[in-house]
Formats: sequence, C-alpha cells, structure tokens
Amino acid sequence: MESGEIKADVAVVGAGVIGVCVALELSSRGYEVVLLDRRGPAAGCSYGNAGFICPSHVVPLAAPGVIAKVLKWMGRPDSPFYLSPARVPAMAGWLLSFARHCNPEHVRHSMRPLADLLMRSRALYDAFDEKVGGFGYERRGILKVFKTEKGFDEGRAEAAMVRETGQPTLEVDRVGLERLVPETPIEARGGILYPEDAHLDPAAFVRKAFSVLESRGVRTVNAVEVEGVRLAGGRAESLSARGVSVRAKQFVLAAGAWTVDLARRCGWRIALVPAKGYSLTRPAPVGAPALPLLLAEAKVAVTPMAGQLRYAGTLELAGFDERLDARRLGAIADAVPRYLPKLAPPQEAETEKWCGFRPCTPDGLPLIGLLPGVENLYIAAGHAMIGMAAAPGTGLLLAQLMAGKEPYTNTSAFDPARFCRRR
Ligand SMILES: Cc1cc2nc3c(=O)[nH]c(=O)nc-3n(C[C@H](O)[C@H](O)[C@H](O)COP(=O)(O)OP(=O)(O)OC[C@H]3O[C@@H](n4cnc5c(N)ncnc54)[C@H](O)[C@@H]3O)c2cc1C
Repeated sequence: MESGEIKADVAVVGAGVIGVCVALELSSRGYEVVLLDRRGPAAGCSYGNAGFICPSHVVPLAAPGVIAKVLKWMGRPDSPFYLSPARVPAMAGWLLSFARHCNPEHVRHSMRPLADLLMRSRALYDAFDEKVGGFGYERRGILKVFKTEKGFDEGRAEAAMVRETGQPTLEVDRVGLERLVPETPIEARGGILYPEDAHLDPAAFVRKAFSVLESRGVRTVNAVEVEGVRLAGGRAESLSARGVSVRAKQFVLAAGAWTVDLARRCGWRIALVPAKGYSLTRPAPVGAPALPLLLAEAKVAVTPMAGQLRYAGTLELAGFDERLDARRLGAIADAVPRYLPKLAPPQEAETEKWCGFRPCTPDGLPLIGLLPGVENLYIAAGHAMIGMAAAPGTGLLLAQLMAGKEPYTNTSAFDPARFCRRR
C-alpha cells in the first residue's frame, strides 16, 4: 500500500481498459502519469467480457425496438435483457431518458461519431498488436448468426447501417456458414460476417498495457481507493485517498460504472447506471469455432480465447449486485447448444463464471471530455457494451482534448455535459 504525496502531470483513476488506454496515450506524449486503482489492472468489467473489437457496433444501446423488448422480458430472470421491477422507482429518471433516446434520429446522429471512435480504436489495436502483442488479438471478423427469419431481417437492416459508415458486410446462407466455420456445425438460417471486426483476450490486453506503462516509468498505485477530488476555484487540485494524496495538473476519472460514486463525492450527479452481464469460460471443446460468433436472438457472444471458449451475455439492470445468479448463467449456457448443437456441454469444475458491470448512459454513448465547470477534471466512462472496442480511440481523443489539439472526430456526441450536473 502506497502512502505520502505523489506529484504528476496527470492522475488517472481506474486501471480498466479505459484508464490504461488513456494512460498509454498520455505517457507516449511525454506526460508524467500516475494511474490508480483500488484493486489492480482489469479488476472490473474489463476482465471477463467477450473481447469483441467491433467497429460494426455503430448502433447505440438506445435504439428503436429496445423498449418493447425490455417490457416483454421485464421480470423474467432467464431473458437476455432483465430489468428488476424493484429497481424501476430508483431508476425512473434514467429509464425515461433512455426511452426518449430510443428513436431513429438518435441512431442516425450517433452512427458517425461511433464509427470514427471504433474504427480509430481498431487501427490502434492493430498497431499495438504489431508492436507489443501477446493478448490474443486476431483480425478474423465477427459472424452474427440468425435462427429466425425475423432476426435475420433485423440483422440485414443493421448491416445496411454498418455499410453506410463505409464498412463491408457479407451475408451468408447455411452453406456459407459451413464454409466460414467448417470446424463447427451451426444450426441457423444464415449469418452476417463483419470482416472489419476483431477479438482479443480482454484481461490479457489490460495487463499487457499495464506492464508497458510500468516499463515506461508510469507510476501505478494499486489497492488504493480514491475517495474524492479536492477542488478550488474551478480547478481540481488533488485526489484524496486513505494515506495518499495525489497532486496533478490534470485529472481523469475512468472508474467504469463506479465513476458515478466518485463524481458524486466531488459534487456531480451523473446519469450512469451499472448494467450487469455474465460470462462462462471453459477449455475449448472439440469442434469449437475459430471465429467469434454472436448468437443473434439469444444475444450471446461466443469467443475463442487461447485454448478457451467464452460465452458472454445478458444485460441486467439491477444495481451493483455482485452475486452470480445461476438462472442467468444457465440461460447463457442453454442458448449455446441451440445454435451449436455438437459442442460438448461445459463441465462445472473447469468453467470460470464471472459477472461485470457495464457503465451505461441513457443515450448509449460514452462520456469523454471535461466535467462541466472545471478546467482540468476529465471523465472517460459510460462505454456500456463497447468499452473494449472503443478504449484506444477514447485515450487518443482525451489526449487531443487535453493538449488543445483538433480531435479526430466531432466530440459533441460524447460531451459529458449531456448527463453531468452539479449537485
Ligand atoms: C458480459 C459482458 C460482455 C462484454 N463484451 C464486450 C465486448 O465484447 N466488447 C466490448 O467492447 N465491450 C464489452 N463489454 C463492455 C466492457 O467490458 C466495458 O465497457 C469496459 O470493460 C469498461 O471499461 P472501464 O475501464 O470503463 O471500466 P472497468 O473495467 O470496470 O474499470 C474500472 C476500474 O476502476 C476501478 N475503480 C473504481 N472505483 C475506484 C475508486 N474509487 N478508486 C480507485 N479505483 C477505482 C475499478 O477497480 C476498476 O478496475 C462487455 C461487458 C460485459 C459485462
């Protein structure tokens, strides 16, 4: 455990994928950075996720049709999207705002900035893999497979939007599925391949990036919970934590879903809620797919990861409840054989079960930029389902904003002022 006073150019709170990518970008530009985490690298949502690096995810979480699905599934513990009825009163404001954003105009307005963020991130992953490697990064694309004609039609409409952002897509029938994934029989009508997508082992990436930061001389402080940020005259002065004080010229809050607590202690109310998801990781069975798959109707991701196979899914709005709900894990495990009937079921003893909290804003877009009213306190959080896919581009954007340089995309869609208010 660290103690005493630390001085730096920039203090970054949170060593998840967002915090490490912000620190990588800033340290490569010569900033003296200190990175703090209450546990250590990849201790939060960046550990057990599906590892999709998906420029194709240009449609935000808040999109037409989502509310109808939420209402249909409400209270059903085995559904892919679960809203706990008990949480509705406490979340009413967030839910209303989310519902207001579920419209075609919002999707149109979001697609370009999301595509820029995601494409830039993918390019930065390519470069980091070439230079550093060792985190299971593969550029094979992601294949979304459909069991129903309705699901396939929805998939085709989504693919048309992805093409509008300049990315190719490839629709295949049953025979095409066999050609793309000959090692794994797939029980589906067909699929859509997103060739620009990639995948990686998320915890391996965060740990590798963390070790690169340490080799560059970045000060990393683990097992220290940041309690707040001291402000004076519209500027942040220092971070307070038990036994440690960090003075810096600039500060970045990248504490994932917990950014809301940290910001509250500094006097801001942020519309950010935790959306819990689960994964099961098993040794790869015979006939495991070499290509990452998205089982469309079940909303389950299946990702090959260095001799293992990970199943990930569900989005549960039920607060910060860290319990592993056997019904929800069971729903993910049961969905896989409906699409991949020849895979042997996972063995309980050799399966790692995990849950994590996606940080979600009401419009499904991240918060990247200055907190309103403070000249040196930034936020980089709220990446929901695309935190892995958007992290390097988020680091670059923040570094450009901090240096007063022209950002590579229009940042207004990500402006924290959308959902951050002084209390
Ligand atoms: C089941 C599932 C599947 C997913 N699949 C994908 C995918 O395929 N592709 C994709 O792009 N995204 C995916 N996601 C989303 C992705 O995991 C998140 O968007 C991303 O990990 C968020 O990263 P983060 O750095 O913001 O937060 P986190 O990884 O949660 O990191 C926050 C860090 O802050 C630290 N912290 C918190 N409070 C404090 C404090 N007060 N002081 C010090 N430290 C603090 C925590 O210890 C933690 O290490 C998935 C999520 C889930 C749940």
